[in-house]
Amino acid sequence: MPIRLLNLLVLLPSFLWADQWYKGNTHVHTTLCGHADTKPDAVAQWYHDRGYNFLILSEHNKFIDPTTVQLKGQVREDFLLVPGEEVTAAVHTTAMNVHRLVPWGFKDNNRSKVLQNHVDETRKAGGVTILNHPIWGRHIHAHEIYPVKNLYMFELYNAHPGVKNFRTAHTPSTEQLWDALLEKGMTIYGVSSDDAHKLQKWGEKENNPGRGWVMVRSKELTSDALTTAMLKGDFYSSSGVMLSKLVRGETTIEIEVDSTTTTKELGSEFLFGRPVRKGEPGTTIEFIGPHGEVVQSTPGHKASCKVKGAYLRGKVTHRVKKEDGSLREYYAWTQPIFADGR
Ligand SMILES: [Zn+2]
Ligand SMILES: [Zn+2]
Repeated sequence: MPIRLLNLLVLLPSFLWADQWYKGNTHVHTTLCGHADTKPDAVAQWYHDRGYNFLILSEHNKFIDPTTVQLKGQVREDFLLVPGEEVTAAVHTTAMNVHRLVPWGFKDNNRSKVLQNHVDETRKAGGVTILNHPIWGRHIHAHEIYPVKNLYMFELYNAHPGVKNFRTAHTPSTEQLWDALLEKGMTIYGVSSDDAHKLQKWGEKENNPGRGWVMVRSKELTSDALTTAMLKGDFYSSSGVMLSKLVRGETTIEIEVDSTTTTKELGSEFLFGRPVRKGEPGTTIEFIGPHGEVVQSTPGHKASCKVKGAYLRGKVTHRVKKEDGSLREYYAWTQPIFADGR
């Protein structure tokens, strides 16, 4: 007993003060929406059993109280259900860390007003808003997002096969949208999520989980601490690449890729990567500023860069040649730092 107590005392300070990285998904569906195939308990179980630390069961206009979700077997202490909802109207948003249902009935032809209503109603319910899949259906433009107050996050990467994240002949990429907002002076961070609806049938073209997530640096695994950390941009978004070091200093971003964990993630049977036609296999760290300009591009696993212009953000691209000869890309995106010291 005394030895245990001593151990506890030695461990206590680091446990209390050291920040940790938590893996989470902010967006997934269940049978409650009528077009997904798995019940809330089993959806939560899937994420629990695969080592995630937190999950939002973000149902369309339904609030799933985490206390009603039953997990089987030995439940890990480092797994948390953060309460939420996908507020679904002319725009879709994740209401993160709300304590009740957020109303969704507000209608207006002006989508900035609809989005502002989501943000305001979500705040009244104690939470924060993530704008979901902006390039989907009638895609949302920067000029519609920019006027919205108290919006600090959007989905930079949404792994639903029907959602566009990358540039097409008709639509910009979410990164272009992001740069347009950052250039205008908006403080907005990029989230990566699954938006999965299907856990019964598996395949690259299926809308399965396990493909987009965030890594949040937080002192503790609570809904409030995670939300606060994300609002400060203290997280990165991933579609496969994991980092061992990320420093968002006042003037510099420093990045180191964790090869071991990245290899482990890429070994997942649920992750396929983005098919691309050109490029050599390997890892590149890019630093991007206003107008999407790549201000520095460094091959390898380690790089740092000083802010040039109004802001700077980091992006890691890891390109792999598969056994079938196809090229696939996986990413990690850091949040921006701002030259004005925000
Ligand atoms: Zn949606
Ligand atoms: Zn959704």
